Amino acid sequence: MHIREKLASKEAAGEPSISFEFFPPKTAQGVQNLYDRMDRMHGLGPSFIDITWGAGGHLSDLTCEMVGVAQSVYGLETCMHLTCTDMPLEKVDQALQAAYKAGCTNILALRGDPPRDKETWEATENGFRYAKDLVKYIREKYGNHFDIGVGGYPEGADDNPDVDLLVDHLKEKVDAGSSFVITQMFYDVDNFIEWVKKCRAKGITVPIIPGIMPIQQYASFIRRSNWTKTRVPPEWMEALEPVKNDDAAVREIGKRLIADMCRKVMASGINHLHFYTMNLAQATKLVLEELGLAPSEEAPIQRALPWRPSLALG
Ligand code: FAD
Repeated sequence: MHIREKLASKEAAGEPSISFEFFPPKTAQGVQNLYDRMDRMHGLGPSFIDITWGAGGHLSDLTCEMVGVAQSVYGLETCMHLTCTDMPLEKVDQALQAAYKAGCTNILALRGDPPRDKETWEATENGFRYAKDLVKYIREKYGNHFDIGVGGYPEGADDNPDVDLLVDHLKEKVDAGSSFVITQMFYDVDNFIEWVKKCRAKGITVPIIPGIMPIQQYASFIRRSNWTKTRVPPEWMEALEPVKNDDAAVREIGKRLIADMCRKVMASGINHLHFYTMNLAQATKLVLEELGLAPSEEAPIQRALPWRPSLALG
């Protein structure tokens, strides 16, 4: 089923919805462990999961394989990431065919990060330069078989800090045929809400899905925020820094900070939360429990959160 339909049916029922991102692990044992975790996290009721795309070779083959297993063996609605990095047209076709045959009907179309050994991104011969070109190609070749999502950047992107220009480019991706947007991680909710308004003012009307990165550990939280240049509100640092050597306290405070942020996002009218799980269950589960979105005996399916849209942003 297409993600946009899944989101629309949840929206119509007035229920919040969630999704989980995973990435292909490096070892065979890691892959099996992740399947087990994905299966357990299925119980949290995600509307879909998505699997990232690594540049070239083994990792991209693994993405295709994992999409097939998640979709057809575990019955999870699965979205395959697909990038243009080192991808001549024939490889794009192979990946799309693999997804098609696996019964996958959702693709997140991206330009892609540069390969590990390169500083800057370069187009591949007989490949695509921008995500919008990939979106257009998938639409032309597969019609409406695939629902196509694209990436959004509320705080600017690695190679382009110009948020307004990125919104223009986002509009081009939507006009090329994409029907939902998943954002890069962020912690500054006010900025996110303003950015959504900016997108709406530019005529981007498709669902915007906020990317939420739970806090598992202080060191990884700092490392990732620095690496992705994500703004951290000063009060978050004031709460986390004093307990940085106490993992349990970091998880507890982090859970509350992320849950508050999710409540604020939902109060703005967006009722879907997309979790960057980093292939781990606990931190995401804690946030969902804090939000009252994890299933319980009284509410076996997720519908516990009193969700009240206050602005028509979603
Ligand atoms: P684009 O939208 O094509 O933009 C790339 C650059 O080109 C930007 O600087 C943009 O401003 C510029 N640009 C776009 N259109 C034009 C135009 N018409 N004229 C001039 N310049 C233009 N990376 C991976 O490798 N694998 C993944 O699985 C992956 N998953 C991701 C998931 C999400 C939700 C997000 C937000 C990002 C993900 N990324 C992933 C990272 C992403 O590939 C990089 O951030 C990449 O640098 C940009 O990709 P994009 O699809 O946004 O590119």
